[in-house]
Amino acid sequence: MTKVRFLGGCQQVGASAVLVEHQDARVLMDYGVAFKGEHRTPLPTSTRNLTAVLSHAHLDHSGSLPLLAGSHTQPIPVYTTALTRALTRLLLKDMLRIGGETLPFEQQEVAQILSNTRALSYNQRQQISNKVFVTLRDAGHIPGSASILVEIEGNGTGPARIFYTGDLNTRNSQLVQGAPSLREIGELDLVIVESTYALTEHPKREDVEQTFIEAVLDTLESKGTVLIPAFAVGRAQEVLSVLHKHRSLSTDYPIYIDGMAKAVTKVMQRYAHSFTGGTQLQQAVEYVSFVRNAADRRQALREPAIIIAPAGMLKGGSALNYLRAIADDKRSSVLLVGKQLAGTPGAELLETGSLLIHSKDGASQRLHVQSEVKAFNFSCHIDRGEALAFLHRVKGNPKIVTMHGEADACNYLAETLQEKFGFNAEAATKGQSFTLN
Ligand SMILES: [Zn+2]
Repeated sequence: MTKVRFLGGCQQVGASAVLVEHQDARVLMDYGVAFKGEHRTPLPTSTRNLTAVLSHAHLDHSGSLPLLAGSHTQPIPVYTTALTRALTRLLLKDMLRIGGETLPFEQQEVAQILSNTRALSYNQRQQISNKVFVTLRDAGHIPGSASILVEIEGNGTGPARIFYTGDLNTRNSQLVQGAPSLREIGELDLVIVESTYALTEHPKREDVEQTFIEAVLDTLESKGTVLIPAFAVGRAQEVLSVLHKHRSLSTDYPIYIDGMAKAVTKVMQRYAHSFTGGTQLQQAVEYVSFVRNAADRRQALREPAIIIAPAGMLKGGSALNYLRAIADDKRSSVLLVGKQLAGTPGAELLETGSLLIHSKDGASQRLHVQSEVKAFNFSCHIDRGEALAFLHRVKGNPKIVTMHGEADACNYLAETLQEKFGFNAEAATKGQSFTLN
């Protein structure tokens, strides 16, 4: 008998965690963190016979892993791709630096998790116990990202095969190729699918790139600064690659990159061989200035230039400093390239043209932005149509469970799969368990 338990990421984006148990083997897929809402961390789990498998580096999948370290003498093994291991190292250390004493773990726990993280290649079948195997499959989300296949052999009434998509993208981006079809995986008994954009249809990627490049050029030609607040892991590098692809249009204008996006870009350069857009990213970086100090920052603002800086939703980071500097300049623009969750400064800026900035001493100040503000959909998640197309190709007659989305998105996807294709589908709730066979 195989039991699957949903520990987090249920009807929410954040704190993803799913546990598969078979006899003595326990496989934990992701252990993330959420930055808002009541369910910040997944449910706790015993570390006895536990093996963790990490889909990708984003903290909503990796940020609670250090909670699994600690008093027990035998550290738990964590499997992921080599690039995700390197990126997770960077992100967990940054989380420690920013969160400090407010975090429920310390440097020691982070070090223990990192020291026991082992790299797997895509499609390499790793034995976890006598009968349990895991395989990472390219998920097309960001460089290094993976979906996870758990196979349990000879499971009483037959083998059980479980596929967890993690964050999934089936269309090509500049950085990574879309995930391969589910058909290639063979018959499945359970599919756990992300639902982030289950209520949305994304525009065509080429159209988004085109309007984005036009907006960039408009600003540069009017001698303004283009500020691109971008998530440090994935989106910043995607934007660099998009700019490089259209470089013939903007050859003379400098591009600067600042904040965490610098270190992440350097890690991705080291692993450029491991993802399709790696070579293009390498070439793009040759034209990019990495901001090192205040003098570089001043220089970036002195001339018409493109500045890429986290945080993507303007919750902090170097993007805010640049925004303060250009806020009064009507020639400049702020191009938002990631989802702006409701309640974030980025969403507020987009809706009202101003945002509230909180400083460390607790004071807050409203910043009115005269520069043009625009948003572009560079999503690296499947949308409604892509989710349905992906799941429609599945072999076997698996149960489908939706997670990693707001409640209405998770429920909508489950209901549609049931009505359209006759799948036994439902949206997971936190703490819920399913038994296979
Ligand atoms: Zn992600």
